[in-house]
Amino acid sequence: MKWPAMRYIRAYHLDELWAALSEHGPAAQIMAGGQTLLATLAFRLSEPGVLVDITRIAELRGITVTGKTLRIGALTRHVELGRDALVQEHAPLLTEAVPLIAHLAIRNRGTIGGSLAYADPAAELPACIVALDATVVAASAQGERRIPAAAFFTDLLQTALRPDEIIAAVEVPITARVSAIREVARRSGDYAMAGLAATLRLEAGRVVSPRLVYFGVGNGPVLAARANAALEGRMLDANSIAAAQAALSQDLDPPQDLHGPPEMKRHLARVLTGRVLGGFLPATEMAA
Ligand SMILES: Cc1cc2nc3c(=O)[nH]c(=O)nc-3n(C[C@H](O)[C@H](O)[C@H](O)COP(=O)(O)OP(=O)(O)OC[C@H]3O[C@@H](n4cnc5c(N)ncnc54)[C@H](O)[C@@H]3O)c2cc1C
Repeated sequence: MKWPAMRYIRAYHLDELWAALSEHGPAAQIMAGGQTLLATLAFRLSEPGVLVDITRIAELRGITVTGKTLRIGALTRHVELGRDALVQEHAPLLTEAVPLIAHLAIRNRGTIGGSLAYADPAAELPACIVALDATVVAASAQGERRIPAAAFFTDLLQTALRPDEIIAAVEVPITARVSAIREVARRSGDYAMAGLAATLRLEAGRVVSPRLVYFGVGNGPVLAARANAALEGRMLDANSIAAAQAALSQDLDPPQDLHGPPEMKRHLARVLTGRVLGGFLPATEMAA
């Protein structure tokens, strides 16, 4: 199908965006990379009266480090995220996640802000920012407010953004940690059937502040509280990994979806847990 008829406005500055949103209210929908939005328009899943293109707003661009915070502008495209040296140095989990997102053509235009706002439960970046304990910077004509990533994803395709707000940036705390992301997908570039983004600190072999975050297994990224508790303070070894895998049965309640039944997803989550945590072990223990 063709897109519905609509007006098109290109905003060059935040002030122009606020003016357009104020004038058109709920009829206005903002567009970033357009990779999801344009498909939903073609399917007539949404029919905005006015499309507001934000891609030229310089205030939403850029990747910077200030003190102990890495700030990533909402318009950062997936390809830019994947090759940025500051991201590689301070949040390599994001660098590792980018090749798992869709295909190169989509990564060329899709943005981190669009991915987080769309809040697909099988998407990689929402899970990564929860694992990194990041903060979403929401902006409106009234100013900015900060939302912890773990509170940002509220339900299936739902976020804590208010109707007059946009995502301006993501702020990642810079801290020593190990991280990894793994997923199972039917084909390279497909959304994950199940995935795991994880961060933790290892202090003399003991696990500190683990954040195992599963995707593709719920209505949004799932921060696995019981599996994390099963790991906290313990030596990272086969026993603690098995304890985390066992605890997952209480953390995850996957819905049946196109990929298969809940038990299949639980199984995949346990396998991914073993792979990710096993990857943090010294090579000698991996071989044992
Ligand atoms: C075939 C296909 C396969 C894909 N596979 C994957 C995959 O495997 N993994 C994955 O993670 N993603 C995947 N994606 C999604 C893609 O990576 C983009 O992240 C996604 O399209 C959203 O980014 P965008 O910039 O294109 O947003 P848009 O399509 O422009 O917008 C998406 C939604 O977010 C809103 N929005 C955009 N920017 C903001 C903002 N700054 N503040 C508030 N709201 C905003 C828009 O109004 C719209 O509702 C896939 C997409 C396609 C088409």
